[in-house]
Amino acid sequence: MTRRWRSVASPLLTAVISVAPWGAPAPALTATTAHTIAHAAVTASTAASLPLSGLIIALDPGHNGGNATHLATIHRLVFIGNRWKACDTVGTTTRTGFPEHRFTFSVASRVKARLQALGAIVYMTRSTDTGVGPCINLRGAFGAKVHARLMVSIHGDGADSAFHGFFVMRPGLVRGYTDDIVVGSYRLAVSIRSGLKSVGLSVANYYATNGIKTRTDLGTLNMADVPTVMVELGNMKNSTDAARMMTWLGRDRYARGLVAGIRAFLGR
Ligand SMILES: [Zn+2]
Repeated sequence: MTRRWRSVASPLLTAVISVAPWGAPAPALTATTAHTIAHAAVTASTAASLPLSGLIIALDPGHNGGNATHLATIHRLVFIGNRWKACDTVGTTTRTGFPEHRFTFSVASRVKARLQALGAIVYMTRSTDTGVGPCINLRGAFGAKVHARLMVSIHGDGADSAFHGFFVMRPGLVRGYTDDIVVGSYRLAVSIRSGLKSVGLSVANYYATNGIKTRTDLGTLNMADVPTVMVELGNMKNSTDAARMMTWLGRDRYARGLVAGIRAFLGR
């Protein structure tokens, strides 16, 4: 949405404050602290040379492990700019019962680790796979709340078993809400599509023939204030996609593709 939330302190600023509270007496510069400072400077210059050094990126692993047992909470309606919608949903599963929430959390965790190794600062909308929610309006607002350059919302689809492949959903124009992110999010969608293709994944053979679909009915997209896309990485009901989604190696491959897309978007 266009309206900006600026009530939350910058996480970077919070980190600085917690390390060096203002007004703390300056420590005496002993040989040991001088060595520590020199070492810190070397570490900082190494970190600065990493391709995503200091860039903040938000990830949204879709759904949550506790949603299925808290239906009253997740069925509560929230406003998403042009309609009211359920706070969240349970998500889908493979035909053998592997749940979407576990898939999205695993992929997001791999994306986070890979981005951090490249120097990025990464925040996720949920830090465990056992909680409830958060609601889609808060997921959407999350990227701006943590001052991220972009947000990727990670999902798996539950379509007819003959369908397979990934597609990226990007926000369409919802006046007063997505005006500020339509262009950037489209560029992000193109980058994510190319990143997933670069690791050999195929665009979906259904729903969005070129791998990108415009949506104006998704809270995660409507309520965003930084470039945001939602990606259905595969069809969990399709046996080939499900086999990939249920293995660690397969999920790491999705993660590599998403990181390649994020890097393409950032030009790093
Ligand atoms: Zn989903």
